[in-house]
This record gives sequence, C-alpha cells and structure tokens, in this order.
Amino acid sequence: MDIAENIKRFKEELPKDVNLIAISKTKPPEDIFTAYQTGHRQFGENKIQEMTEKWEKLPKDIEWHMVGHVQRNKVKYMAPYVSLIHAVDSLKLLKEINKEADKNGHSLDCLLQIKIAEEDSKYGISAEEAKEILDSEEFKKLDHVNVKGLMGMATFTDDEAQVKKEFEHLKSVFEDFKKEYSNMNILSMGMSGDYKIAVDSGSNMVRIGSEIFGARN
Ligand SMILES: *Cc1c(COP(=O)(O)O)cnc(C)c1O
Repeated sequence: MDIAENIKRFKEELPKDVNLIAISKTKPPEDIFTAYQTGHRQFGENKIQEMTEKWEKLPKDIEWHMVGHVQRNKVKYMAPYVSLIHAVDSLKLLKEINKEADKNGHSLDCLLQIKIAEEDSKYGISAEEAKEILDSEEFKKLDHVNVKGLMGMATFTDDEAQVKKEFEHLKSVFEDFKKEYSNMNILSMGMSGDYKIAVDSGSNMVRIGSEIFGARN
C-alpha cells in the first residue's frame, strides 16, 4: 500500500465539494504522518482512547473525526480537540458533549447517525427520532453543541441497488432537515466499499480507511 499515492488518487477522483476523511483506526501514527505529509489533515478514528493517543503524538493541525460509537463517559477525553463527532444517537449524549465542550470553553460539532441499513445494526436512530431531539426544548438549551448534519452506514452487501436505495433515502432525509434546521450542511456517507455510490447519491463527506491505509487485521 502506498498511502501517499492513495491519498492523492482519492483527492483527484473525488468531486471538489466532497470532503475526504482518512480513517486510520488500528494503523500506527507513522502511517498517519505519511498521509499528513501529502498535505492531508482530516483523519478519523473509531475509538476515543486510540484517537487521543495519536492526537498526543501527531502534529496539532490535524482535524480529528470520531466516527465510531461514543460512550458518554469517554467524551471528556476528546472534548479538548475533536473536530467532528459523526455518530451521535441520543439527547443524553448531546448533553454530555455540550457539558464537556463548555468545560473546554468552546463548542463541538456533531452529526446525528441515522439508521439506514436493512440489516439489524445496533447504532443510529430514525429520522423521526432525530427530529424529536432537534425539536426538544432540552436540545435548544444546549449552547455548546452544533448539529451540522447527518451520518449513515449502508447495509454491507454486494447488492448495489440496495446500497443506492439506502443512501438516496438518507440524502432525502438530509434535504428535508436542511430546510427545517439551520447549520445543516454535512452529509457523511460512504466508505471504501461504497463511496462511489454514496457520492453519486449526494454525499459530501466520505470516510475511507482500507482503500488508503490497507486492510486491517
Ligand atoms: C472503519 C470505518 C470506516 C472506514 O471503513 P473502510 O471500509 O476501511 O473504508 C468508515 N466509517 C466508520 C464508521 C468506520 O468505523
């Protein structure tokens, strides 16, 4: 795997308005630094502890994205530096993020994870549940958290029509939310196996791991 070459290839291939998040989970800081030296600054991890260890070691102008499921008791470790939390799925978690952002004297940006896959995935909420959260008085009181868009993961399948259907559904939910709520401008969908379909369906942020850094063990 030539990490630098892969990053360059993605940057050339992706439309200009699609943000590339390089998912470096399980990979050593040296690999991230190789990508960094091409000029890339946006990296994603799925475990807070691992991300924090890498944040400590690597240049401070890296933008760190938390793409995995977040446990409330670990928010404090990433609150000082995280750029975007992709997989928020409850008001309780938003409250915790708000509290820790406040302690650090800033606001934190989040996405709500919408469940779009047909398979029984554990995480994510429905569009209706997301609206309930955003419309609640409790949410409106949170001054240190910005919900900037939506994130979703399609079913893990070779059936491209199925994947396309799920991404197009999320895109339509996103368009609906954009009309109803301010500050919604990020639609995070697409991974190594399905990013082309995601981009065709209107994604503006893709999360690519193995196609950049190689397969994980
Ligand atoms: C691991 C991961 C990715 C990247 O997966 P690849 O298939 O390696 O590109 C994207 N999003 C989330 C939420 C992940 O956990």
